[in-house]
Amino acid sequence: MSDTSSRLRIVWIYPDLLSTYGDRGNVLILRRRAELRGIATEIVHVHSSDAVPVEGDIYLLGGGEDRPQILAAERLRADGGLKRAAERGAAVLAICAGYQIIGESYGDDADNPLPGVGILDVRSGRGETRAVGEIVADVDPNLGVGRITGFENHQGRTAIGPNAVPLSRTVRGIGNDGQTEGAYQGQVLGTYLHGPALPRNPELADLLLRWRVGAIPPLPPSWGERLHEERLAAAL
Ligand code: GLN
Repeated sequence: MSDTSSRLRIVWIYPDLLSTYGDRGNVLILRRRAELRGIATEIVHVHSSDAVPVEGDIYLLGGGEDRPQILAAERLRADGGLKRAAERGAAVLAICAGYQIIGESYGDDADNPLPGVGILDVRSGRGETRAVGEIVADVDPNLGVGRITGFENHQGRTAIGPNAVPLSRTVRGIGNDGQTEGAYQGQVLGTYLHGPALPRNPELADLLLRWRVGAIPPLPPSWGERLHEERLAAAL
């Protein structure tokens, strides 16, 4: 955890620009699953007019429409805090628009390439079609997460560079390119899964916690696991 606090600091980046699909649910589930393990948490909401604190533990970025996404990327690049936090070893979960803007570059609404924050080696542009619907994917076995489900709604397509690894292989849906879904590099993870992603995939929440606090005990199955199973059954 951060040097300055005994609490796990969960930083929600720009809820005023990047929060289209119930992204707050990701914050709530992360806090809940931490506290069930006896880990105290602190939630920090960072609006787009605020400076991004560098000493957070887990940073969350949600989805957004094309124009708010551009504004968010410009402000994050000018601020520099998210990049410094990632360089210090913070964990990052970035969803859809958030995923695109933490990469090296992404396409604006006319597919002009714009610079991203540059903490994940991916490049995004616009596809011919919009990817909309349920998505199911099998996560890289190295991460111990299994099969994930979500809802995707994006025009972007994403190519993964040599320093990043695909998060998962798609079973249903488009994700990055119809073959893979999401990417990670160290403790920085991006995905097209909305839903929101963490309530639908408790194992993904636990991965972020493990990245920051180390081994954590399993929890007895609860409604989160039931939701996961229900969504998987509905999508396949
Ligand atoms: N504007 C981006 C796209 O269409 C991201 C959309 C989103 O976050 N749902 O690809």
